[in-house]
Amino acid sequence: MGADEGKPVPIADNYRTGIRIMSLAPKEVTCRCGHSFITDRERSWCGKCCDAVYYHEKDKNRYRNNSMYIVGIIIAVVTFLTYVFMELIASPLLSA
Ligand SMILES: [Zn+2]
Repeated sequence: MGADEGKPVPIADNYRTGIRIMSLAPKEVTCRCGHSFITDRERSWCGKCCDAVYYHEKDKNRYRNNSMYIVGIIIAVVTFLTYVFMELIASPLLSA
């Protein structure tokens, strides 16, 4: 835990208003596995367990929702392709 922990940084105000700035003030983040490191990116990877570590704690949920959304789309596409495959290829073979 760094001495700067909890100190308000200018980026926080911009973040709240929705303005995204590429470079963040370097800050120590702690992974779920307990590994701590300094990062200046919103999303970085733990050097020990390769898990995603977020600069802003609340980003975790946002990214999780995003990835769930993407997974949902992939499942829908796979389901659709399976349906098309069944309709166009498997059905004629079965009914032949
Ligand atoms: Zn880790």
